[in-house]
Amino acid sequence: MLPHVRPTIATCAVLGAVVGWLTPVTAYRLSVEYGSPPRSTCGDCAGPLPIAGRCPGCRAVLGPTAWLTVPVGALAFALIASALGPAPELPAYLGVAGVGVLLAFIDLACLRLPDPLVGAATILGVAPLLLVAALDGTAGPLGRAALAALLMAGIYLVLALVPGAGLGLGDVKLSGVLGFTLGWLGWPAVLLGLVLPHLLNGPIALVLLLSGRAGRRTDLPLGPALLAGWLLAVVVTA
Ligand SMILES: [Zn+2]
Repeated sequence: MLPHVRPTIATCAVLGAVVGWLTPVTAYRLSVEYGSPPRSTCGDCAGPLPIAGRCPGCRAVLGPTAWLTVPVGALAFALIASALGPAPELPAYLGVAGVGVLLAFIDLACLRLPDPLVGAATILGVAPLLLVAALDGTAGPLGRAALAALLMAGIYLVLALVPGAGLGLGDVKLSGVLGFTLGWLGWPAVLLGLVLPHLLNGPIALVLLLSGRAGRRTDLPLGPALLAGWLLAVVVTA
């Protein structure tokens, strides 16, 4: 391993841990029914929400446990950093991963991928790559990235139109930015990004069923599998 790669991995792991630490309460605020405003108070004691940690009023755990979100954030960022190294593209992939951790836990909690967050992931994922291409003075892999975004979003749009597919428009929009960032890396990454979520979805569904989080007739979230498949595709092909 190159000597300058290790500090990058360590820095990114810390950054990912901070994102994971901020995830539970942010997910708690945003895990609401479609059309409802974000939560601004604790559901148990109606006290104001902290930035992170338990409710200061009643000590209730807010959102997913940080014992899970912190390692997930740190691991995701460290894996991306080890795959890409200190490349100019790195911020784009960390940006998608950062919002992705939050999106995955919100989708698990309430089967939603809120538009503002998918929009944030799109800006954080696409803007740095546009900047890299502009600084290089070439279109670079931009054309392939755009084509991959259309391809992935198109495939998921068709799947979303199948009755009973259990796939929402949030998944379609998210697959666009995932496709864009995978397309930048190459077609093998796009192919993995299309296949891996469906291999991962089975085990994720099994864990949800066994832990009593879902019944046999419950709709299952696809977001976590989409994002985990994206992460693996980036790590394997970057
Ligand atoms: Zn409370």
